[in-house]
Amino acid sequence: MDLSVKTNVKTLNGMIQPGTFRVVAGPCTVESYEQFEASARTVKEAGFGYVRGGAFKPRTSPYSFQGLGVEGLKILSEVSSALGLEVVTEVMDPYDIEVVMEHAKVLQIGSRNMANFSLLRRVGEAIAGTDHGVLLKRGLAATVEEWLLAAEYITSAGADNVVLCERGIRTFEPSTRFTLDLSAVIVAKRLTDLPVVVDPSHAAGRRDLVIPLSKASVAAEADGLIVESHHEPQEALCDAEQALPAGALMGLRESLQPFAAAIGREVI
Ligand code: PEP
Ligand code: MN
Repeated sequence: MDLSVKTNVKTLNGMIQPGTFRVVAGPCTVESYEQFEASARTVKEAGFGYVRGGAFKPRTSPYSFQGLGVEGLKILSEVSSALGLEVVTEVMDPYDIEVVMEHAKVLQIGSRNMANFSLLRRVGEAIAGTDHGVLLKRGLAATVEEWLLAAEYITSAGADNVVLCERGIRTFEPSTRFTLDLSAVIVAKRLTDLPVVVDPSHAAGRRDLVIPLSKASVAAEADGLIVESHHEPQEALCDAEQALPAGALMGLRESLQPFAAAIGREVI
């Protein structure tokens, strides 16, 4: 594999910092101002500085809720600036890159778009020289090599603020939504200096596994997590079964800190 991303990139403009383990939390999708505000407030109260929430949603069915689009982006930026949080949100279409950058610090490229090479290139060109970053999810059937080469599309377009995200791969195992591949986290970190975070929520598809998988991610020396949380999980319009309720989110930092301390990191 011909990789140039072994570049000593250790930071992502504050998102990833040496000696820390970053937690990004928030709802799968922005449903309304009230819902996002209440969910983002619990992220803030839990002590985390980055909130997630999708305005453009890649749904398997065209009949499922597709996200609020630009209206959702406005809610994301309004609420997060009032609370002092940074935003991670997905961009699905090259036409939306500019408007997403107006409202979010970190642009997520979702699992289903990992191999959308024109999107990868256009995002790389757009964020080059800015303080924006990209969270690149691993495709649900992508090898580590394919994932790292997808990152190369972004970095070779001039952007080096790329964080890789392992979110589970499709296997024969039906007891979880996907199979969290922690080996891939370790392998990727040996092959590249790009930071690697874990999404235990989409991997598990069920909230009871999210905290144990988060602990395992710290032990695997991931650089952080992106988890789904909701102030009323049972009411969530999207991915309700995997959302952590406020109480679990409040305890997350404390649950992870002993594992982080064992490898000399602080949960932020
Ligand atoms: C998400 O983060 O909401 C999402 C759709 O993730 P993935 O692309 O990993 O399925
Ligand atoms: Mn989701």
